[in-house]
Amino acid sequence: MSTTETRTIIVTGGSRGIGRSICRTLAEPGAVVCFNYFNPADPEGEAAAAEETGRIIADAGARAMSREVDVADPEQTSSFFKEVVEETGRIDVLVNNAGITRDTLLVRMKPADWDAVINVNLKGTFNGIQAAGKVMMKQRSGRIVNIASVVGVTGNAGQANYSASKAGVIGLTKTAAKELAPRGITVNAVAPGFIETDMTAVLPEKVKEAMLSQVPLGRAGTPEDVAQVVRFLASDNAAYMTGQVLHISGGMYM
Ligand code: NAP
Repeated sequence: MSTTETRTIIVTGGSRGIGRSICRTLAEPGAVVCFNYFNPADPEGEAAAAEETGRIIADAGARAMSREVDVADPEQTSSFFKEVVEETGRIDVLVNNAGITRDTLLVRMKPADWDAVINVNLKGTFNGIQAAGKVMMKQRSGRIVNIASVVGVTGNAGQANYSASKAGVIGLTKTAAKELAPRGITVNAVAPGFIETDMTAVLPEKVKEAMLSQVPLGRAGTPEDVAQVVRFLASDNAAYMTGQVLHISGGMYM
């Protein structure tokens, strides 16, 4: 589909942070922006956050559809995507954004913390690509953008699970790009550095200062910094790019 005005877009983890900003940026008038979220520990908080994202999408003139769906669960993911296709007939863009951290040094890392991060960040991205890929293959078109991280390339003490999941996302992006290219589908990744969201707000001040000292551009990134690059990769302007990883880190990694 060449026009951006009637696209069906799915953003995983769209209720807050970078995902919300991506929803806002892709919410052109006439588009349908579908997103999910999953935080059973805080049902009221997640519902309020999802409502706010829904309002932002509607204010931009697009239609919002949101569901509480765990990306780590292939069945929940596939039934959400089926519902989207029943409603709109297609999936033009998938942004695999949902992600979590469970940071600690690897010798102390509990198996459950390893599993949780791999299941949401890596398996969740696989579940999304598989569910949307089948629809996009029939359409012979589609754009998939995966949110990796600079630490998937550099590694980071205290983030064995997270950096492994994001390195996995990069390998998965390249393989999916090769498999889906013959059907006109592009698959790319972005690798954000230190971005101001709830995920990084919990870090101790000392850790934040240490991270900022490694950023040549001298500031933390904003969710909007990431969303604008995702918007480019999801647009016709990026038609001849696939299997790429774009770093959005203020030069933290070159
Ligand atoms: P965030 O503010 O913590 O938001 C995470 C989002 O993911 C929320 O909408 C959350 O839903 C959703 N989510 C979490 N687990 C989920 C699950 N199992 N199923 C569905 N949705 C789920 O995080 P963020 O900073 O925006 O991060 C977004 C992405 O960017 C992640 O992949 C992260 O790894 C990546 N990233 C972030 C940074 C950074 O500095 N912030 C840097 C590099 C990469 P609820 O609202 O229901 O919890």
